[in-house]
Amino acid sequence: MTRAIIIDGKAAAEELRQDIAQHVGEARDYHHIVPGLAVVLVGADPASQVYVRNKNKFAVEVGMRSFEHFLPEDTSESELLTLIEGLNDDPAVHGILVQLPLPRGIDTQLVIETIDPVKDVDGFHPYNVGRLFTGGQGVTPCTPLGCLELLKRSVGDLTGKRAIVLGRSNIVGKPMAQLLVRENCTVTIAHSKTLDLPHECRRADIVVAAIGQPEMVRGDWIKPGAAVIDVGINRVPLPGGKSRLVGDVKFDEAVEVAGFITPVPGGVGPMTISMLLRNTLLLCCRQSKIDEGFCERP
Ligand code: NDP
Repeated sequence: MTRAIIIDGKAAAEELRQDIAQHVGEARDYHHIVPGLAVVLVGADPASQVYVRNKNKFAVEVGMRSFEHFLPEDTSESELLTLIEGLNDDPAVHGILVQLPLPRGIDTQLVIETIDPVKDVDGFHPYNVGRLFTGGQGVTPCTPLGCLELLKRSVGDLTGKRAIVLGRSNIVGKPMAQLLVRENCTVTIAHSKTLDLPHECRRADIVVAAIGQPEMVRGDWIKPGAAVIDVGINRVPLPGGKSRLVGDVKFDEAVEVAGFITPVPGGVGPMTISMLLRNTLLLCCRQSKIDEGFCERP
């Protein structure tokens, strides 16, 4: 059996950023508009700080305006809502992202629903969730969008494929399943109560693993030739106080069976940020009444 083709998410994400940078330049030169992304972080969680800094760094790199709001851990819900309302009204801001999780005592759903749906760059507002399910103009969450892009780049047309999504969270599993349905896949959604997960996986041409369980998906769960997208990011301890990142899939085993597979790190992770930038550009075009076709790849 031949080894899987390893899907290079880093390279795909870089290529997308180059396209986006070109479009941002054209928006500036021909429409005199600079897309703006506001990122809000409450508290000092080190992992969240790294994510937020990266998001801002890449936004600036592609020529966007980046507005960082680092708020202390003891920020009240009403202070956060007031900030969001200000960003909703700010014409320089086209996309608003509030980094999750939020500290205890802040109602996450209320915060998400306070973001103007037209600026909801993460696509978590119920309006955009509904649009994903019913069709029409909305915003699609960045991580599932990145997974789909990697799948289409490697597999091509997904019509008729049997897909399984492991995980049913609102930010990854559910929107991912819906995107695959839209691509004409036959989709199973699995979760912690699913009976005989290995059997369900073995039937799938496409496996998207988003369960947050280090290396749980084994090589013998994979149908030969299947495409495996590993969303999981799990830090596992090593002797000597060090640690390493692993996905939800046991890569060394799955790579011997699958047709395509994403590594961790270097697979889905980099795509999430590129999709965030793409969504920001898209929202900027919509708010500035620029034809959305402008955001498509040249
Ligand atoms: P959640 O914790 O919100 O959801 C996990 C899902 O996995 C739940 O639906 C849960 O089932 C299911 N699950 C948990 N354990 C098992 C099990 N043993 N067997 C089957 N299903 C199980 O996680 P997220 O969706 O937010 O994230 C999933 C993973 O993806 C994490 O590792 C996270 O770090 C990573 N991630 C990566 C991103 C990226 O950019 N690469 C972005 C976002 C997340 P149930 O509903 O029954 O509890």
